[in-house]
Amino acid sequence: MATSLIAAVDLGGTTTKLAFINTSGEIVVGWKVPTDVSNHGSRIIKNIAEEIKKKLLEMSISKDQLLGVGVGAPGPFSESGVMYEAVNLGWRKNYPLKALLEQEIGLPVMVENDANCAALGEMWKGAGGGAENLVCVTLGTGVGGGVIVNGKIVRGARGAAGEIGHMTVVTEKGFVCNCGKSGCLETVSSATGVVRLASQQLQTTSKASFLRTKQNFSAKDVFEAAKMGDEIAAFAAQQCSYYLGLALSHLANTLNPDVIVIGGGVSKAGDPLLQSVRKKFNECAFTPVRNSTNIDLALLGNEAGVIGAAWLIKQKLME
Ligand SMILES: [Zn+2]
Repeated sequence: MATSLIAAVDLGGTTTKLAFINTSGEIVVGWKVPTDVSNHGSRIIKNIAEEIKKKLLEMSISKDQLLGVGVGAPGPFSESGVMYEAVNLGWRKNYPLKALLEQEIGLPVMVENDANCAALGEMWKGAGGGAENLVCVTLGTGVGGGVIVNGKIVRGARGAAGEIGHMTVVTEKGFVCNCGKSGCLETVSSATGVVRLASQQLQTTSKASFLRTKQNFSAKDVFEAAKMGDEIAAFAAQQCSYYLGLALSHLANTLNPDVIVIGGGVSKAGDPLLQSVRKKFNECAFTPVRNSTNIDLALLGNEAGVIGAAWLIKQKLME
């Protein structure tokens, strides 16, 4: 019998990543296309279905070899696959993504928030190593989060559980967040956050810094300058990891996960970041939690989303 495959989709506001993944979680083929968000995202579902059909044809795979389609997308979802909000994709509120894609493609579809998919991907094939209790925090432009308890995503009352990025960590005079609050974790412990912290430091002191020689500097510049001993950069990097370590300790004291996985672009800062996050975490975590919750860097990079989306179908089949 021919191998069974899962079609996986990581739907972003700019790019749609697609893959055919086998039931062991290995990517057989992966590709990406721009997301057409024009006309209120009216072509997105059709385009996904067409991309999958085109690839089946190209690879001489018959449609009945596909077990289903797993989709990760940026927004909170209901249990039945209705997307409450999809600002980046142009869709109206309460968009029935699962039902519409099933109708279009004629296969079972499972949908989940993209940060949750990354968490599922890391659980299945990445740093989670199959651990059933895992928190995944993605440090990019913002901070995304996914919480898995007993192998299941924690969704909450309105799909907004695991929004780690909006935990308040700076209680006074914090930076204003995109969500409307101020002092959120993502205002300090994201790529934009660490740049913001460094810029603030540059303005409040007259200390020499490599960062003063650059017109626009990136999070990568800050972490690299910190490694070279630049005081201002080191202070910003330290603050970024201090707040992350603090937020993660609160999460761990509540959930005591086997592992907290740190992913996203900022996690490329690697061991120095991990060490200082662990330092603050160890100060603030309850002793039994500190001794049983590990903090590790993500292993899957950009592929976590599609692998987690495939897991949705795999998990459905095992039920
Ligand atoms: Zn916020």
